[in-house]
Amino acid sequence: MKQNATPTKSARALPEQSAEQEMLLVACRDVSITFGDGLASVVAVHGTDCSIRADSRVAIAGPSGSGKSTLLHLMAGFEQPTSGTVTWPALPDTGSDLTRGIGVVFQTPSLVPTLNVFENVALPLNLAGEPSTTITERVRSSLELVDAAELENRLPDELSGGQAQRVAVARVLAQRPRLILADEPTGQLDHHTGQRVVDALLATADALGAALVVTTHDEMVAQRLTTRWSMHDGRLQPTAAVNGVLR
Ligand code: ADP
Ligand code: MG
Repeated sequence: MKQNATPTKSARALPEQSAEQEMLLVACRDVSITFGDGLASVVAVHGTDCSIRADSRVAIAGPSGSGKSTLLHLMAGFEQPTSGTVTWPALPDTGSDLTRGIGVVFQTPSLVPTLNVFENVALPLNLAGEPSTTITERVRSSLELVDAAELENRLPDELSGGQAQRVAVARVLAQRPRLILADEPTGQLDHHTGQRVVDALLATADALGAALVVTTHDEMVAQRLTTRWSMHDGRLQPTAAVNGVLR
């Protein structure tokens, strides 16, 4: 809707608000999630507020069991909160992570074992019905960006853990998401290999102008991202709120 051209204070404020909404990819408001019932129930995430914007580069650190994966799954729309809301103001409201423009990288790369690297990266694009020339161009440029161009004819079991993870990053890159969520993407890799995967994620986010959220319990990985949040017992730490959540 076109705003009133009169330069009153309120007329100027409205376009700024909509620009802010445009940047807001994920908004978690007082989000909690409980798994199970009664004595066996676990509150995996407690009353959490956080915002992810187009230029966000966020590490969520914290010990095992602190709720990092669950929070990431909420942001991906894989889980529904028990209370509170998760919304994606600037993403299409399609109900699916893929068509919404969210790309997810898991701790284990989950490549299809019978397809070679090229075919694995191409698979989601094939499923989306992209023309074959677009697919070839995107797959090659994505593999190049994550330094895996020479691997395109290999099968997944001919890759090292780090190579497979970089291919999984290329598969996300080829889909051109606006938000990349990576759940302990370096969790099974040695330090040097893990850093190359982080390089690939950062290069991918930069190339796409996408937001990046990485969960990790490795401080060296967290240090690579500009914003660091910390999770304990299902809560983002108060320092995290000062650093940019709740804005
Ligand atoms: P992290 O990723 O930090 O290791 P998680 O988010 O995986 O932590 O788990 C947080 C807590 O929630 C843990 O106690 C875990 O056992 C529990 N949890 C996670 N997912 C489920 C589930 N699907 N069903 C039951 N409990 C779960
Ligand atoms: Mg986890």
